[in-house]
Amino acid sequence: MAGNRTFTMIKPDAVRKNAIGPILAMINNAGFRIVAMKYTRLTAEQAGAFYEVHKERPFYGELVEFMSSGPIVAAILEKDNAVADFRTLIGSTNPAEAAEGTVRKLYASSIGENAVHGSDADETAKNEGDFFFSNLERF
Ligand code: UDP
Ligand code: MG
Repeated sequence: MAGNRTFTMIKPDAVRKNAIGPILAMINNAGFRIVAMKYTRLTAEQAGAFYEVHKERPFYGELVEFMSSGPIVAAILEKDNAVADFRTLIGSTNPAEAAEGTVRKLYASSIGENAVHGSDADETAKNEGDFFFSNLERF
């Protein structure tokens, strides 16, 4: 059975574009309920830990630098089939390949600075939510 929660971040590029409001509106309009949310900034060490799975990839250093370059919005979202439906809402990693009307098509600048994060599986959604939120911060 598909899980009903996913984890997202509105990345520093989208925050700098003043796109927090419109992206949250797209998330709510797509039927996701906000379980937990915070506005915060990652240190380079924290960004490196969050993206540890990518540490051997050539873009890792740039990714860590970018993700710690300014504040982000982190959130846990709830909906049936949350992980897959959220990936559909945000579109492909590379905005040049993202479908019309997706968050990345509308707000991403490049494959690196691509406006939003979305978990890739139920297990990663759980781990990523736990990285940011305690049980007292979930509703
Ligand atoms: N990324 C990058 N260059 C690449 C691929 C990915 O800078 O060639 C960055 C980008 O910010 C992406 C993140 O690394 O969102 C994680 O990559 P992943 O392949 O997991 O993409 P996602 O799951 O975010 O679509
Ligand atoms: Mg990913």
